[in-house]
Amino acid sequence: MRVFNFAAGPATLPLSVLEQASREMTDWQGSGMSVMEVSHRSKPFIALAEQAERDLRELMGIPSNYKVLFLQGGATGQFTAIPLNLTAPGAVVDYLNTGAWSKKALGEATRYCKVNVVADEAGSHYSTVPAADSWQVSAEATYVHYTPNETIGGVEFDYVPNTGAVPLVADMSSTILSRPIDVSRFGLIYAGAQKNIGPSGLVLVIVREDLLGRARADTPPIWDYAVMAKEGSMLNTPPTFGIYIAALVFQWLKREGGLAAIGERNGRKARLLYDFIDASGYYKSPVARNARSWMNVPFTIPNPALEKTFCSEALAAGLANLEGHRSVGGMRASIYNAMPLQGVEALVAFMRDFQQRHG
Ligand SMILES: *Cc1c(COP(=O)(O)O)cnc(C)c1O
Repeated sequence: MRVFNFAAGPATLPLSVLEQASREMTDWQGSGMSVMEVSHRSKPFIALAEQAERDLRELMGIPSNYKVLFLQGGATGQFTAIPLNLTAPGAVVDYLNTGAWSKKALGEATRYCKVNVVADEAGSHYSTVPAADSWQVSAEATYVHYTPNETIGGVEFDYVPNTGAVPLVADMSSTILSRPIDVSRFGLIYAGAQKNIGPSGLVLVIVREDLLGRARADTPPIWDYAVMAKEGSMLNTPPTFGIYIAALVFQWLKREGGLAAIGERNGRKARLLYDFIDASGYYKSPVARNARSWMNVPFTIPNPALEKTFCSEALAAGLANLEGHRSVGGMRASIYNAMPLQGVEALVAFMRDFQQRHG
């Protein structure tokens, strides 16, 4: 039986995508082979990769002066690739620290650059985002990096920082494609696939062309954006199955009405869950109201000793992976694009019942 999977990542995928992949598993496009067994240089696979890029460009409205790269090494690989590609030794870079992932990103950048932490939400235990007027881009910054959605803390920016002429770099791993954005506000967007796109291992980089060709001489070619752009992300064998699933997910998103429709649905799902939590008098959201993520919803109950019971009873009811991150405890419901409204309704019904029995 298929469950509603609230995992933060790898995360749930659209059922219709999984069903199509399973239908095509042993005979993709009449080739008599699975897509995994086909050359990445073959015409049908190149056509698939090009269609995936076209669909992503259409969905996100990516301007023509941006390259789209399908890379490997996860978002974590990009924590390293970004300073290597965008800065010279000794450069100054700005990082906003809003939680676990921004902390990891800036830790890695520290190995290559002088990092200015221009905002740090430690004071609120990372339950807030810095107000737009509470921090400034430093004069010498080569780029500004932030994490629009902190997957672990469930903290999401309610604005896009205005960094003027300084390129804005965003780790969108857990929020990409969740609603429309204006790509032209960003110098570089990157996102690991396993939250809102497809299988782990694949990572997307959307980068403005003027930022290419600045990589340090010792940058590995597979992480050099200019090299990968020139090679159509196929300097070496790309993660073909990941690209295939991503392509199916992009087509699914288009069928669902694109990012405006998805964003509307995601807003409705999030409001349903937060409104229930706030009104319950039992569950609590630790996140400031203006910073509550649409994708990752952490919540607590008054008696932490009941958390295990909550999660095991939820699983028995077909609601999987509600444990909070090991670093923060509590519970967390990740409600990415592929989580249907019915999944959130089922979660709320379970939470109401659990409260009646244990509250
Ligand atoms: C999951 C996640 C990462 C790490 O992705 P990997 O593919 O494991 O490297 C980085 N940043 C954010 C915001 C994430 O959600």
